[in-house]
Amino acid sequence: MNGKLKYEGKGKRLFESDVPGQLIQQFKDDATAFDGVKRERIAGKGELNCAISSFMFERLQEAGVRSHFIRREGPREMRVWELEMFPVEIVIRNIAAGSICKRLGLTEGLRLARPLSELFYKSDALHDPMIAVEHAELFGWATADEIATMRMLALRVNEVLAGLLSGVGIQLVDFKLEFGRHPDGAIVLGDEITPDGCRLWDAATGRKLDKDVFRRDLGGLSEAYHEVATRLGISVGASA
Ligand code: UDP
Repeated sequence: MNGKLKYEGKGKRLFESDVPGQLIQQFKDDATAFDGVKRERIAGKGELNCAISSFMFERLQEAGVRSHFIRREGPREMRVWELEMFPVEIVIRNIAAGSICKRLGLTEGLRLARPLSELFYKSDALHDPMIAVEHAELFGWATADEIATMRMLALRVNEVLAGLLSGVGIQLVDFKLEFGRHPDGAIVLGDEITPDGCRLWDAATGRKLDKDVFRRDLGGLSEAYHEVATRLGISVGASA
């Protein structure tokens, strides 16, 4: 990469690009879980995540959902708009799994009567605590109106992605999104949409095709991600 490194997270790096206001988002091969306590390098994961994320952002764009995505720029790189990110995460759930089961004593696999949106404060040090809109407003993380917009967009993302995935026999159980402000002032989707931040279950067998394979040591993470890509018709490795 030619540009200066601006930010490095657990799964991605952001570099300055040749165009002001645009960045290069690079996907790493690292898999991490439990706030980075469990970590492993999985060859090919960066490329798979870049391919899947680019595909999802393109389909969302066609459905009228704006994001930071501009275009895929290389095997593990995409060109994105630089957003001013909100320090919150929106989780949408269709089926109970993960933290909501622990928190509310629900059985994994319970189908929710309607999609549920939850709000979290983005802080590794605090393990991303769940918050109410009131916390976000009081501490200046986002206004109630901004959160309402993010939630509305996230529910639309859910409709688009759940439809796409169910068409290839995959249940979209839950996923996490992050939003930011575009240079033109609009609130748009940022970050990534990959099996790292979603729970994806095979509709017929319930087999996990997401990062729970890594979290729970089920083995074959890149095979699972590859299967998601193949089912969606994404050819990995055939990028720019
Ligand atoms: N998630 C994520 N990053 C986070 C927290 C959650 O990508 O920092 C995703 C996670 O992969 C799952 C969904 O959001 O698809 C809901 O996660 P949950 O709250 O159940 O937490 P977890 O079980 O991952 O601790």
